[in-house]
Amino acid sequence: MSAAAAPPAPSRSIPLLIPSIEEEDIAAMAAVVRSGNLVQGEKVAALEEAVRQVTGSAHAVAASNGTATLHLSLAALGIGPGDEVIVPAFSFIATANAVVHAGARPVFVDICRSTFNIDPALVEAAITPRTRAIMVVHEFGLMADMEPLLALAGRHRLPLIEDAACALGATQGGLPAGRGGVAGSFSLHPRKTITSGEGGVLVTEDPELAEQYRILRNHGISQRDGRMEFVAPGYNYRMTDFQAALALSQLRRLPDMLAVRRQLAANYLARISHPCLVLPAAREGHAWQTFHLMVEPPLSQEEVITRLRAAGIGCNLGAQCLPAQDFYARTHRHQVREFPQAWAAWQQGVAIPLHPRLSPADQDHIIQTLNSLPIPPRS
Ligand SMILES: *Cc1c(COP(=O)(O)O)cnc(C)c1O
Repeated sequence: MSAAAAPPAPSRSIPLLIPSIEEEDIAAMAAVVRSGNLVQGEKVAALEEAVRQVTGSAHAVAASNGTATLHLSLAALGIGPGDEVIVPAFSFIATANAVVHAGARPVFVDICRSTFNIDPALVEAAITPRTRAIMVVHEFGLMADMEPLLALAGRHRLPLIEDAACALGATQGGLPAGRGGVAGSFSLHPRKTITSGEGGVLVTEDPELAEQYRILRNHGISQRDGRMEFVAPGYNYRMTDFQAALALSQLRRLPDMLAVRRQLAANYLARISHPCLVLPAAREGHAWQTFHLMVEPPLSQEEVITRLRAAGIGCNLGAQCLPAQDFYARTHRHQVREFPQAWAAWQQGVAIPLHPRLSPADQDHIIQTLNSLPIPPRS
C-alpha cells in the first residue's frame, strides 16, 4: 500500500476479542484466593461436574491448559514412540505438538475448505500399521464431520480424539462436541468462549481412561486401599482452584454467550457482501468461537489485515498450515502442495472480532470497512 493511500489514524479500537468476565466471576475467584485453598480442590471438582453436564459426558477431568489435556488424552492410551496419530493440517500448533509431547508422530491430513476441518475422505489413505489414533479438531467452534469420521475410526478400530479446544457448547445433529470420540479436550484460554486464564478440561465415557487422566495429571499418584502410590511417572497438570472458580462462574452464562455469538455471526453472514470475501459456512450447532473469512484474489490477506488494523479493527490469522511451520517442515519434509486447502486457509484466512462485548456500532464499523475494501487491479 502506498503512503498516500494510507487511511487516517483509527478513531476507535475494536479488539479481536475480550473475555466475558463479570464482577461476579471476579468475586468468585477472589473468594477462593482468600480461603487459601488454592490448588485443585472443590472448585476444580465443581467445574468438572459443570463441564460434564454441558457435554453430557460420563467423566470430566480439568487440567492446567488445553495442550496438557490433549497430551493426557494420548498418554492415557499408551501412545508413544513409534506410533502415529492423524491430525488435520490446519489448526493451532498445539494439536500437533501434543502428539510430539507424547513421543509419537503427527501425520497430517488436509482439510475441507468449506468447514476448515479435517477432510473425512482423505483420512483413510493416511492410516498405516503404526496409526494409533485419529485426532480431529473442531476448528473455530464448528464440529468436524463426525459421522464418517466415527465410522472410519470404528472400521479401523482406532480411537477418535476430539480437539474441541474451540468448541465448548457446539453440537452436531444432537451430538455435543467432546462426546463422540473416546476423549474430548477443551481449552479455557482467553481466546476461547469460557476462560480460566489458562486451563483445559478432558471428557470421556471411559471410567478407566478418566482414572488414568487423574493419575497422570497429578504426578502419577493413585490411591490404593486408602494408600498413596506413585504408579506412573505422571505430570503436574493440575489446575488451581481460583482458576476453576473463574471459569465456573462464567459457565453459567454459556447459553447466553453462545446465543450472542450466533447473533453476531448471523449479522456478519447477512451483511458482509464484498466480492473478494468468502464467508464461513453457517451450520447448526456452530459455537462461533472465531469468525474466519477467506480472502480471494485480487484482494490479499495482507491488504485486508492492513486496512482493518488501520481502521482500528483487531484481526489475525485464524490458524496455521501445520506442515509448513518450521519444526514440522524440518521433521516431516512434506510438500505443501500435499495440503492445498490447509495452505489456502493459512494464506487467505482472516479472523475478525466476535465476542459478546462487541457493540452494534462496532460491528457496523467492521462490516462497512470490509464492504468498502477497494479491489486492487489484477496484476
Ligand atoms: C487453543 C487451542 C489449543 C490449546 O489450548 P491451550 O489451552 O492454549 O493450551 C489446542 N488446539 C486448538 C485447536 C486450539 O484452538
